[in-house]
Amino acid sequence: MKLILLGPPGAGKGTQALRLVGAYSIVQLSTGDMLRAAVAAGTPVGLKAKAIMDRGDLVPDEVAVAIIADRIGQPDAKRGFVLDGFPRTVPQAEALDRLLAERGMKLDAVLELKVNEGILLKRIETRFAEMTARGEKVRTDDNADALKKRLDAYRAQTEPLSAYYDRTGQLRTIDGMASIDAVTAQIHRILGAPTSVAQA
Ligand code: ADP
Repeated sequence: MKLILLGPPGAGKGTQALRLVGAYSIVQLSTGDMLRAAVAAGTPVGLKAKAIMDRGDLVPDEVAVAIIADRIGQPDAKRGFVLDGFPRTVPQAEALDRLLAERGMKLDAVLELKVNEGILLKRIETRFAEMTARGEKVRTDDNADALKKRLDAYRAQTEPLSAYYDRTGQLRTIDGMASIDAVTAQIHRILGAPTSVAQA
């Protein structure tokens, strides 16, 4: 199973990606997580990406594409993957099409989580507040200014991907405002019930 999860920050992509990993025995490939790992490890990519990410802007396409190109070629991604946070721009989507074609791979679906922006902002604020209350470290881009930038970047650069994947016939739209379990159920209805151990 090879999937893309599309949706703005806070739409629940990470939560659903984890469930898909369990249900379909695939790997989650999150460019955000990979970039944060590069920042933490102080690699050359990480050093370049840190300031950009902290501002809430997108790292250059070639950086994101190089990370994914390397990752989908690894053995654990053979069975399938769910891309979370990639592609984020039309050039990234075009690069992904080329990468998959070179490897003889095909996407099964592009799942777009549709959310209401007002409710989304509330959700994100609640998430910050809960994490802070538990004494957990929040991300350095989890502040009002960077979040606004992340939403602006989504609208301007990522939203056009809905039309891109609609044209290819791969887009499946999901109501992301439903409960976590109801969103998972919608996904399973689209993809067909998983044959391995399901985590509803
Ligand atoms: P969000 O919760 O905002 O969806 P992510 O964890 O997916 O965040 O990504 C965090 C940051 O990492 C982004 O704001 C951006 O700076 C960078 N990033 C992640 N994926 C990409 C990508 N595919 N292209 C460009 N930048 C990316």
